[in-house]
Amino acid sequence: MNPSTRFFKKKNHLKVTKQRKALLTYLLDHQDQYHDVTLVDEYMRQEFPGMSHNTIYRNIREFEEAGMVEQQMNGDQARVKYQCDFAHMHHHHFICQNCGRVTELEECPLDVFQEQLPGYQIDGHRVELYGLCPDCQKAATA
Ligand SMILES: [Zn+2]
Ligand SMILES: [Zn+2]
Ligand SMILES: [Zn+2]
Repeated sequence: MNPSTRFFKKKNHLKVTKQRKALLTYLLDHQDQYHDVTLVDEYMRQEFPGMSHNTIYRNIREFEEAGMVEQQMNGDQARVKYQCDFAHMHHHHFICQNCGRVTELEECPLDVFQEQLPGYQIDGHRVELYGLCPDCQKAATA
């Protein structure tokens, strides 16, 4: 069973629509990258002429709430990607600034920060690492 089938069966009782399936499939086909939400919107409107921006944005939000996709802001542009790790929904990323490839980081540094803030309640955090992936470094020196 692929993850999207499992999602529709068990979680959230979101109705399976052609549009929701197409959206997930699109994200799944490019799952190691973030995509500008505006480009996803464009793709969906090409596939489904007449589908409204509102519906597309709502579908993305529903998927995010269900943990199917991850979202991030790049300046004021929202970006979205397929969930990289259903077993560890909480994780961080290394993002290659050249090719955009996203690599999952398994360790969360929160414990280190908590040690430095004795008595504080930490309610959230964002950690993202940027740089060049090995392939892009090779290409740069070739
Ligand atoms: Zn991820
Ligand atoms: Zn790269
Ligand atoms: Zn963390």
